[in-house]
Amino acid sequence: MITTALVSAWIARFGEIIEDRADYLTKLDSPIGDADHGANMLRGMTAAVPAAENAPTIDAQLKAVGMAMLSKVGGTSGPLYGTLFLKAAMTLGQRAEVAPSEFAAALRTGADALAFRGKAEPGDKTMVDALAPAVAALEAHVAEDFAAAAEAAHRAADEGRAATTDMVARKGRASYLGERSVGHTDPGATSATYLFQALAEVSR
Ligand code: ADP
Ligand code: MG
Repeated sequence: MITTALVSAWIARFGEIIEDRADYLTKLDSPIGDADHGANMLRGMTAAVPAAENAPTIDAQLKAVGMAMLSKVGGTSGPLYGTLFLKAAMTLGQRAEVAPSEFAAALRTGADALAFRGKAEPGDKTMVDALAPAVAALEAHVAEDFAAAAEAAHRAADEGRAATTDMVARKGRASYLGERSVGHTDPGATSATYLFQALAEVSR
């Protein structure tokens, strides 16, 4: 089962990775953005980690993370990550444990809502390029073993992230550069990969 303890550990680990890679995320956001993605994510996660820790049920934890992202991040990525977590939370009842398949379905709902809100499709060089394949892999393998499914999701996210380098940006600030966005990895796809890296690490 997926427990509140696992969700706390997941969000805490995501926060650690963000802290560790904040400068790198900002560096990625420099040539094709406004050099704030690392700072944005760090602000959001600094609020999200204790909020998730103190919430009593999984839906309340996800909601707390979503609210923190929405209110603290500031950039475009804030409302998008906010949507991911808030919509995922809405699919779950007030429970301290959910089945792995329900958890995967919740993330699928969240990721779909994020893509809808951003009007982004795979190939647009956004966080959707990491999130969509990650949730697809999680769903595909969740019936076997959650740790393996989380590992597969991380791998899929990372492949999606790497593929953004050669893409022309069609959404967000990077899209202003058109063809000149080619050759740069998308910062949001990179932070989204860390979300699944964290999930894989705490699920082992
Ligand atoms: P801002 O662009 O407002 O400075 P951030 O730098 O925090 O916000 O986040 C930028 C990231 O947000 C991009 O790398 C991209 O992954 C993601 N992004 C931007 N616009 C969209 C969109 N319409 N749909 C999905 N993701 C988007
Ligand atoms: Mg930015």
